[in-house]
Amino acid sequence: MRNEKYMFMIRRGIEEGQIRPNYQPLMSGCGKVYGFEVLVRWPHPEQGTIPPNKFIPFAEEEGFVDEIDRYVCEYACREMKQLMDALGQKFILSVNVSAKHIVKGHYVEELKATLERTGFPADLLAVEITESSLVINLKEAAQVIEQLRELGIQVWVDDFGTIYSSLNYLRNLPLDTIKLDGSFVKNIHDGFVDRTICETIIKLAHDLDLKVVSEGIEYEEQFTTLKAMGCEYFQGYHFQKPMSLDEVKQYITTVKVL
Ligand code: C2E
Ligand code: CA
Ligand code: CA
Ligand code: CA
Repeated sequence: MRNEKYMFMIRRGIEEGQIRPNYQPLMSGCGKVYGFEVLVRWPHPEQGTIPPNKFIPFAEEEGFVDEIDRYVCEYACREMKQLMDALGQKFILSVNVSAKHIVKGHYVEELKATLERTGFPADLLAVEITESSLVINLKEAAQVIEQLRELGIQVWVDDFGTIYSSLNYLRNLPLDTIKLDGSFVKNIHDGFVDRTICETIIKLAHDLDLKVVSEGIEYEEQFTTLKAMGCEYFQGYHFQKPMSLDEVKQYITTVKVL
């Protein structure tokens, strides 16, 4: 498909409300819900569900992923604020944002405006920085992150260990949490190397006063191993797949919230 046509299709998907958030729980070590990660979904009326790995990288390349991220973030903040009010409970909401987007300018102002419009509390929001390009200006990114933290917003780094500049991020960015990439978790019982990588990343994070979320947990043994290594939070199909808001409403009545 031609690029302009695909871009048009995505923008129409947003305007018509086809594109919307799903939510996957983030669990504590004691099995309570700590929060939810927002994952975009596109159930296309003709083409079936289009996965984010198909259209997010395209939008990043074409330079308009910020339109999707803003829309998804606002949508999720609005839905989750209403849900929290209805339940009288609080939980963390983590949203994905590409590293390129945060240094594009006006990111902090826009996010602040989103929080004001939706009433979602800044101190319950976490921004998961995912890498979109190899080169970002770390100095500039550090300034933006500093401003986010002043507002009470947490900053996490996604896919830790696989992204090109993982260690550079730790050296230069004032982060709160790292997300240990699911590819290490997947093979944690298959051999010495991945197990050692998990252990070492968790220790490194703790030495730097950062918390760790392990993602992609599919089996109980992966959970118990990572918990024994000191990891704080956990996410994966073993606990729950990403859900629509209606499914979350059902799910939340069956679990305890941290
Ligand atoms: P990610 O941020 O690393 O998200 C985790 C991905 O792993 C999600 O795929 C999730 O559904 C999947 N997952 C969760 N638990 C398990 C598990 O136990 N096993 C396995 N094999 N997979 C699991 P999804 O939803 O297809 O999203 C793919 C990627 O697309 C995300 O990776 C993220 O980088 C990007 N993405 C999703 N939503 C957004 C968004 O709103 N904005 C941006 N910029 N990127 C997004
Ligand atoms: Ca993520
Ligand atoms: Ca990830
Ligand atoms: Ca990823």
